[in-house]
Amino acid sequence: GENIRAVGKESLVELDRQYMWHPMMPYSASQQPMVVAHGEGPYITTEDGNRYLDAMSGLWCVNLGYSQKSLAEAASEQMLEMPYYPLTHTHKPGIRLAEKLNQWLQGSYRIVYSNSGSEANEVSFKIARQYYEQMGEPNRWKIIARYRGYHGNTMGALAATGQFQRKYKYEPLAPGFLHVPPPDCYRCPFGHQAGLCQHECANYYEQVINWEIPETVAAIIIEPVISGGGVFVPPPEYLQRVREICNRYGVLMIVDEVICGFGRSGQPFGHQNYGITPDIVTMAKGITSGYLPLSATAIRDELFDVFRHDSEYAHLRHVNTFGGHPVACAVAIKTLEIMEEEHLVDRAAQLGQQLKTKLTPLANHLHVGDLRHFGLLAGIELVADKETKAPASPEFTAAVIAECKKRGVLIGKNGDTVRNFNNILTLCPPFIITDDELDHIVTVVKESIAKTT
Ligand code: PLP
Repeated sequence: GENIRAVGKESLVELDRQYMWHPMMPYSASQQPMVVAHGEGPYITTEDGNRYLDAMSGLWCVNLGYSQKSLAEAASEQMLEMPYYPLTHTHKPGIRLAEKLNQWLQGSYRIVYSNSGSEANEVSFKIARQYYEQMGEPNRWKIIARYRGYHGNTMGALAATGQFQRKYKYEPLAPGFLHVPPPDCYRCPFGHQAGLCQHECANYYEQVINWEIPETVAAIIIEPVISGGGVFVPPPEYLQRVREICNRYGVLMIVDEVICGFGRSGQPFGHQNYGITPDIVTMAKGITSGYLPLSATAIRDELFDVFRHDSEYAHLRHVNTFGGHPVACAVAIKTLEIMEEEHLVDRAAQLGQQLKTKLTPLANHLHVGDLRHFGLLAGIELVADKETKAPASPEFTAAVIAECKKRGVLIGKNGDTVRNFNNILTLCPPFIITDDELDHIVTVVKESIAKTT
């Protein structure tokens, strides 16, 4: 460790330039990556001593901030006790976490573990197809997802993703994935003004299911609120309508809670805000507050009945070496215990309400087209022209983000770069921030938009 630490920041950047290939970062000689060295509460500090308030919780995951000693201790204890065993057998951290997840889900679910959100979604697709195969409906293999949704980077999860800037040049991906328009109420895909919603985007599922022949559709996959794609909050009835359509046609409802889960929405899981019961729930990120990789796919117990067979091939023939790693499970249990003891789901709800109230005046700004909120998650859609809703240029958005960073606050962005939209700022702060820190984030975002204008 000392040798590496002794290397100065300059040479670390040089070594990075020589050896590293960063995700989502265009290779440009002028762009220097931040070398992140230290984390404390909601702050990170770089190798050259700059400190930032991280209003994105890393990549939408470090919900408990960067200095939870008890998570490190839980990992250390488990590592000393039993550092690894595959879940082809079983172990206490895996079992206890599965029990806890059932409490958070408020239902009866079977838990399959993996290491990332993408894999959790892959498992859900395999289970949906196998379920119908074993129900005697082998033609049900199609899966309907949404444009602007994000479900991961692997060939199946990316096929489900509806953001074309992430798929372009990697296609063809897994077959059988279809997309419906998102509930984007600001730019309604059906051309309706606010308040005149006719729920076409929810009803569209029914049309697609019929056009495809219902007997060929296995499942839909849906984020409660499209998060990374730009925080698209659906009308309150939307998820229930989609659930009813799924029921009508025997289509399984897979709810992707990778971002919305574990308190982000102000409820334990995002779908609980809408009073629906999913058939399958996928989760990752916040499950360990980002401290270790872990994900889970939860399958409603009734569906599991189809897999209670001794016949060959009837079981889940899916294994991965690290899925449900005991150390990650121990950290996840501790994460959920901390959330329970410190009432952090309620705190996230409260902070989310404050964030909404404090951001509201921004709606009057010349370049702010729309403000969207889901718990402690916000999207700010920037426009060049409020009247025509012409999106702000990618350069404008980038300048706002750079200005926030200059003022010590890290925020995120999303958009549809294929159509040259890259105009949505995102906020996803950790649940452990103080009221003052939340105020500071809002102040910096407001000042940075004003400065850039
Ligand atoms: N699903 C959603 C909703 C996500 O936001 C993400 C990641 O951002 C994923 C799935 C994929 O998770 P991972 O990056 O852990 O594979």
